[in-house]
Amino acid sequence: MANINLSEISALIKEQIKAYKEQIYTENVGRVVEVGDGIAVVYGLDNAMYSELLIFPNGVYGMVQDLRKDSVGVILLGDSAKVKEGDIVKCSGRVLEVPVGEEFIGRVVNALGQPLDGNGPIKISKTRPIEVKATGVMDRSSVNTPLQTGIKVLDALVPIGRGQRELIIGDRQTGKTSIAIDTILNQAGKDVICIYVAIGQKESTVSNVYETLKAHDAMKYSIIVSASASNPAPMLYLAPYSGVSMAEYFMYQGKDVLIIYDDLSKHAVAYREMSLLLHRPPGREAYPGDVFYLHSRLLERAAKLSENLGGGSITALPIIETQAGDISAYIPTNVISITDGQIFLQSDYFYKGIRPAINAGLSVSRVGGAAQTKAIKKVSGTLRLDLAAYRELEAFTQFGSDLDASTKARLDRGRRTQEILKQGLHKTLSMEEEAVILYCLTKGHLDTIAIEDLARFEEQLYLDMKVTEEGQQISKYIFEHKVLPEENQLDSYINEFKKKF
Ligand code: ATP
Ligand code: MG
Repeated sequence: MANINLSEISALIKEQIKAYKEQIYTENVGRVVEVGDGIAVVYGLDNAMYSELLIFPNGVYGMVQDLRKDSVGVILLGDSAKVKEGDIVKCSGRVLEVPVGEEFIGRVVNALGQPLDGNGPIKISKTRPIEVKATGVMDRSSVNTPLQTGIKVLDALVPIGRGQRELIIGDRQTGKTSIAIDTILNQAGKDVICIYVAIGQKESTVSNVYETLKAHDAMKYSIIVSASASNPAPMLYLAPYSGVSMAEYFMYQGKDVLIIYDDLSKHAVAYREMSLLLHRPPGREAYPGDVFYLHSRLLERAAKLSENLGGGSITALPIIETQAGDISAYIPTNVISITDGQIFLQSDYFYKGIRPAINAGLSVSRVGGAAQTKAIKKVSGTLRLDLAAYRELEAFTQFGSDLDASTKARLDRGRRTQEILKQGLHKTLSMEEEAVILYCLTKGHLDTIAIEDLARFEEQLYLDMKVTEEGQQISKYIFEHKVLPEENQLDSYINEFKKKF
């Protein structure tokens, strides 16, 4: 020890002092002052951003939802029982993101993209922010490609184009979900990715949807995002935004996506609950003042991109449940005004067995006509009038008085129109089948067929179009050219078929 060289030591110390770099870490932290019902109020996060991800102890995350003078209102994305008053909260510096990508196809996930189907973890490679600004006008092109639902009455009267937003609205148990699910089933082989977002549904309903899609082999192009009724309100609030973020990933790859929000009434209710817990002032029907913006910024993200952005699209089918058919209530009118049209389902039709229970008078599609194929357009021109005239005459003639020949003919045609537009569950049709049967109807070929025989006629006609040579030729022609063949060719085919029938 004696021969320690003092100068050596001092040189070492000096060297270390020279190499010392001061590093200051700052962290934006705050403290929980109030927590409960999936909501927390945090004091002291001066630099928090709107929709920023916050880190709570015990692996709980939160999202900033309310910026106030000296605190922030946070929605908790996890078990709120694990958060206590006084807990330290850190800012992450990032807005909330959801994982996206091809890995999600075929899976059932929650609003944060975590698997619910018990098929193992999902490898996460990419994420997207949950809230983004919708594509601008210059980056969009107009709707020009049909999204075939495979449901006759829809494809004929309320055609939907890729990139459109079409509302499905009606009372409870009128077949709203069924229309959406059948539309998904009809996308088989059409290169459309389908995302079904369940908001506030019973878990049994969601699992039925999953089983149906699986049974028809439709999960191989579908994703289910589920925030069921038992989830806290913030998860219900987030689910549609997560769904559309996943959809945008595919759209920017040039793909076509169909997204279903089932349903936005429950979404609005979840948002109302969340907002009241955050002490926001209630407005009309106790919904917060920005409830219109809640749905407009969501549906605005449906788009048909221009060619130089790849031409992808997101078609949105939001669902709204009405009370006693009241489409003029607050949330229904909001969403009607945001979308490009609505499919209105009426419960008395449904009970009478007219299914899908579509009210042709109140259902419209404001942009889909531009995307309708020529074949379908040609045969659907008079349908709406035929139906409207029929419903009016039917009311008049209930008492069974003598009818003149022209009224009788109109009634007959109307009755057949109504019959032909009925369609069973999961029995979607190809565009060719729809075009030929509607041609038969409008050209009067069915006037000689008894009403009770119509369903059988339809079934055999579709079979004939598949198996006979002439039938195949006609199908192929319509499929390839998207127009009907020469009228006399079509007429002679149908007349031949009627002889066999
Ligand atoms: P909810 O309000 O409960 O969400 P909903 O309006 O979504 O109901 P669905 O669940 O789609 O209605 O349908 C209600 C019932 O009607 C289901 O049992 C379904 O099988 C039946 N249904 C729907 N469409 C048809 C159809 N075209 N033909 C026969 N049955 C149908
Ligand atoms: Mg439903």
